[in-house]
Amino acid sequence: MENKKEMRTWLDDMKLDHPLVIAGPCSAETEEQVLKIAHELKDTDVSYYRAGIWKPRTRPGNFEGVGALGLKWLQKVKAETGMKTCTEVANANHVKLALEHDIDLLWIGARSTVSPFIMQEIADALQGTDKIVLVKNPVNPDLALWLGGIERLYTAGIKNLGAIHRGFSTYEKSKYRNIPEWQLAIEFQNKFPDLPLINDPSHITGNRDMIFDVSQTALDLNFDGLMIETHFDPENAWSDAAQQVTPSSLVQIMNDLKIRKETDPEAEYNSELNNLRAQIDVVDNQVLDLLGKRMKVAEGIGALKKQKNVAVLQSKRWNEILGKMVLEGEERGLSEEFILRMFKAVHQESINRQEKIING
Ligand code: PEP
Ligand code: MN
Repeated sequence: MENKKEMRTWLDDMKLDHPLVIAGPCSAETEEQVLKIAHELKDTDVSYYRAGIWKPRTRPGNFEGVGALGLKWLQKVKAETGMKTCTEVANANHVKLALEHDIDLLWIGARSTVSPFIMQEIADALQGTDKIVLVKNPVNPDLALWLGGIERLYTAGIKNLGAIHRGFSTYEKSKYRNIPEWQLAIEFQNKFPDLPLINDPSHITGNRDMIFDVSQTALDLNFDGLMIETHFDPENAWSDAAQQVTPSSLVQIMNDLKIRKETDPEAEYNSELNNLRAQIDVVDNQVLDLLGKRMKVAEGIGALKKQKNVAVLQSKRWNEILGKMVLEGEERGLSEEFILRMFKAVHQESINRQEKIING
């Protein structure tokens, strides 16, 4: 798939002077709930109203969505508020029903993007549609799989395309529900700068208190929009209660976000600078994570050395490591002086940790 300008026409045609905002509850629960939230979002920056009708749940026995009945409620939302509507589709039958009910935008969930069979089934069912179709990243951080899904849709003649970054699941404990792996989203943008990319801070954080910060990072990284789960009574939502915000919090978030406007040269300079700074922040955090991991391993070595009663400092091994690092660093354009200074500092911290363990 080459980078096709036509893929972002639908977004440019909207002529928004702010990022695209998609909002609404995780799940459609009742007709009253769907309409009440929609009316509270009506006169805001929200262009598309979301509600999950068929809910992919990790384990059976949870609320799995109201089904096709909810599509009628979304039609009412459109008639009463003028907002466009969207929902998740996960198979050919969902597509057929959503198209029959004139849903304006369909998204494909993270658990569907992982399966080429499902993606092909959905692409075939959508063949030639002029509806907007957004593809969430797969649950695992696999850029090729994400792009492959989009490519299947493109090949089926679907031109109004886009992507949603909702983070990646991981076995490691993290403050995120799904870790953002921003680097992957940056790579995605570099490969396809014309494919609209929406951020979903709700599923990345799993926590409404973190939504603002993740949204700001996304905007600094040039994302085109946000999808934020919104409910008038988040605590009592039937799914994803911890991450939904109220309509008034959503408005507050949108007001507080610094939105880059690329109109005058000064603003353009600032926006480029913010983008590069956001990229630096992403990498710095990765460096810190890795240093933290390295020190944990050093502590393990400290414990072993204590058992065997061997000295903390093993000069011969350390000099070998340094020599190797200088060469590896050179290949990456890093000076010998920098490598030596940095790794000496890392080594010293490692020794301090080990000594603490050995001496109790
Ligand atoms: C959702 O948007 O409610 C959803 C189920 O998201 P995801 O596919 O990202 O888990
Ligand atoms: Mn959800």
